Amino acid sequence: MVEGGISGRLPAGIQIWDETMRDGEQTPGVAFTPEEKLEIATLMDEMGVPIMDAGIPVVSKEEARGVRLVANAGLKATIVAAARAVRKDVDAVLDAGADEISIFIACSDLHLTHKLRMTRAQVLEASVRQVEYAKDHGVPVSFVTEDTFRADLEYVVELYNACIEAGAVRVVFCDTVGVATPSAVAWFFERVLPRLRPAELSFHGHNDLGLAVANSLAALEAGILVPHVCVNGLGERSGNASLEELVLALETLYGYDTGIDVSRMYDLARLVERLSGVPIGVHKPVVGYNAFSHESGIHADGVLKHTATYEPIQPEAIGRERQFIFGKHTGSMAVSDRLRKRGVAATPEQVSLLVQLIKELAESKPKEEQQAFVELFREREERRRGVADQEFWMLARKAGLPVPPELGI
Ligand code: MN
Repeated sequence: MVEGGISGRLPAGIQIWDETMRDGEQTPGVAFTPEEKLEIATLMDEMGVPIMDAGIPVVSKEEARGVRLVANAGLKATIVAAARAVRKDVDAVLDAGADEISIFIACSDLHLTHKLRMTRAQVLEASVRQVEYAKDHGVPVSFVTEDTFRADLEYVVELYNACIEAGAVRVVFCDTVGVATPSAVAWFFERVLPRLRPAELSFHGHNDLGLAVANSLAALEAGILVPHVCVNGLGERSGNASLEELVLALETLYGYDTGIDVSRMYDLARLVERLSGVPIGVHKPVVGYNAFSHESGIHADGVLKHTATYEPIQPEAIGRERQFIFGKHTGSMAVSDRLRKRGVAATPEQVSLLVQLIKELAESKPKEEQQAFVELFREREERRRGVADQEFWMLARKAGLPVPPELGI
């Protein structure tokens, strides 16, 4: 923790809103069963994650069953379910028995013109109507717009105020395509928040340019209380702000108590890795394979003398262990340490000979195995995602469509 912290920059009462079961499930190729959603939700609930979106019940019967299963599991967390600003979507959420509904619609002229083919007035009208409808059925409403950060500021203020007036208790601002920067986020909220009616404020950031966590921190510094996150940074395209990165940044860099039990963070990451079928990236901060691995002699020497020299977070704090990797950059400290831990005595000359042998072996190792691993991974990744090309055309035939003969299916 930074001495004294900079937590004074943050509002009190930040609440993490997890999106793993909704936006996270929209990661290409990912589908959770209802029972898997419950397993993820239960672990997050035990860790103290206070708000979770369980899904979009109108998507399918199985999806509705998943939302119902999580909503009725007696968890401490608030279970949200999502709906477009369309009556049948809202009805599906009401049926599923979620604690809260998140009603979403697009906001930027780009989305209105080319996707929704609706005018600003029509979007406002549909939003207000569905917010009122849900509220009249006794469910707290979060109002969400897609692509808020590329929308006209005057329209954002008008639309959000209309929905707050209609009964939304919380409003969510989304950087849907990850095009904001921390200073753009600050600029946006400086202009919008003073003109907004009272409501709880939330931010949803995407990671297309690797800025989701930084943008979320900027949103929190601007007074936003509820950041959206996904475990392992799952989500559409390059994903959402990662739960583990944002929570650890708040806890470690700001000295802010998020109320989340970080000691099970790695368990959560591994659970979601297994159930989503999306491997955690080797370089992924906090939960990636390399996050607490050291090879270079200078770094291993530092870490062995004091872990804080090259580790911003103690791996034990999140249920992990540090690793020393032996290779081309190995130094004598890590080698001595490994020998000592096994009770092997060695003179400095013997250690230095061993270091030399390790370097030589590492530098002479053939690359074939590493390259084969990369090839295998890429090939399997193609086959793993969703319905494969061959399966697509077999289903097309089942649907009575002609399959182009050149596909050989
Ligand atoms: Mn999203």
